[in-house]
Amino acid sequence: MNSQLPGPIDPPARLLMGPGPISAYPSVLRAMGAPLVGQYDPFMTATMTETQDLYRQVWGTGNDATLLIDGTSRAGIEAAMLSLIRPGDRVLVPVFGRFGHLLAEIAERALAEVHTIEVPWGQVFPVSAIREAVERVKPHLVACVQGDTSTTMLQPLDEIGEICRAHGALFYTDATASLGGNPFEMDAWGLDAATAGLQKCLGGPSGSAPISLSERAVEVVRSRARVEAGIREEGDAVASDFIRSNYFDLAMILDYWGPRRLNHHTEATTMLYGARECARVLLLEGRDAVIARHRLHGDAMLAGVEGLGLTVFGDVAHKMTNVVAVEIPEGVVGDAVRSELLSDFGIEIGTSFGPLHGRVWRIGTMGYNARTDAVLTTLAALEAVLRRHGATVAPGGGVEAAQGVYAAARS
Ligand SMILES: *Cc1c(COP(=O)(O)O)cnc(C)c1O
Repeated sequence: MNSQLPGPIDPPARLLMGPGPISAYPSVLRAMGAPLVGQYDPFMTATMTETQDLYRQVWGTGNDATLLIDGTSRAGIEAAMLSLIRPGDRVLVPVFGRFGHLLAEIAERALAEVHTIEVPWGQVFPVSAIREAVERVKPHLVACVQGDTSTTMLQPLDEIGEICRAHGALFYTDATASLGGNPFEMDAWGLDAATAGLQKCLGGPSGSAPISLSERAVEVVRSRARVEAGIREEGDAVASDFIRSNYFDLAMILDYWGPRRLNHHTEATTMLYGARECARVLLLEGRDAVIARHRLHGDAMLAGVEGLGLTVFGDVAHKMTNVVAVEIPEGVVGDAVRSELLSDFGIEIGTSFGPLHGRVWRIGTMGYNARTDAVLTTLAALEAVLRRHGATVAPGGGVEAAQGVYAAARS
């Protein structure tokens, strides 16, 4: 026996109340403990097909090309963007937080001609600003985050699809942070591509990226694959101008998930089980009911932090339901409060990036943790820690304000 070996994995009890990852639904973790089957076992292929259908309902789409990319949310973003963009294509990215910068960076790696427009962090774009930019840039692709966790803002997307359609642009969104906790209508909003991850409102671990593509987007992916095949025959000099991923080649991935089941990667069985369960629990509760639950607990957390006397960051009218950014009070060291919440209470909250690092905390109420006890416990713990750090807070004000929201919702 080797006594040097570490013991079996035994994580501490944590309540993950940050901007993601969040505590998974217990049933998702149970599903991920199910036995493995072979890559082409009828059960495996049937489960893939079943999961595609569940995600069509989650996305609000009839898109055939609805599947999972193996990898974290970023894998879905790369698969979508690398497969839709050809070198030199104009791509418009409205940037309202960190993840907009990520989309612009990935478009640049795909050798696009990238055009960005920006609003200050904490705001979203008026539709008119996006319309004006589309008319000016005439992009091949508009790539816009729906909910940017770095600022907590939710960009309204419902009118952008029509603008894109009118100007011949494809419309892609990264809905990682928002899907499942905020309204999302792939087809009604005219989206051509959308990607997400499990570790936010969907209530699973990171590691699988749901994606859906319209027929128009699939046609672009397929025609690009044909062009590349032609170039490959003509010689490598030209081909080297293309960023060509094998792992994220959507044309190949579509053939793997499609009726031909052409071998590509080995679908990550355990993640498939988890992703399937995330969609199943969402649809069992009902799409509208899940959004309403996120709104209720998000409202309670918002009222709670305000009840403590803290200030909320950003345009609250355009905030995601599932996360709130709170300004760190003068004289309080934000990271010290976070680490004490973790060590003394087992509660994790987040800070933010770039201009907001050390200026705000981000507190999430999503998926399994969009729950009354999770909200009240977090507020009570935050109050206790803040007081120890000498901040002036209204005693009991957080829990009381949140309970007020719950009482109003019951009556
Ligand atoms: C959290 C988040 C991601 C996360 O990407 P990962 O690759 O899963 O870490 C991506 N996009 C947005 C908008 C997010 O909020």
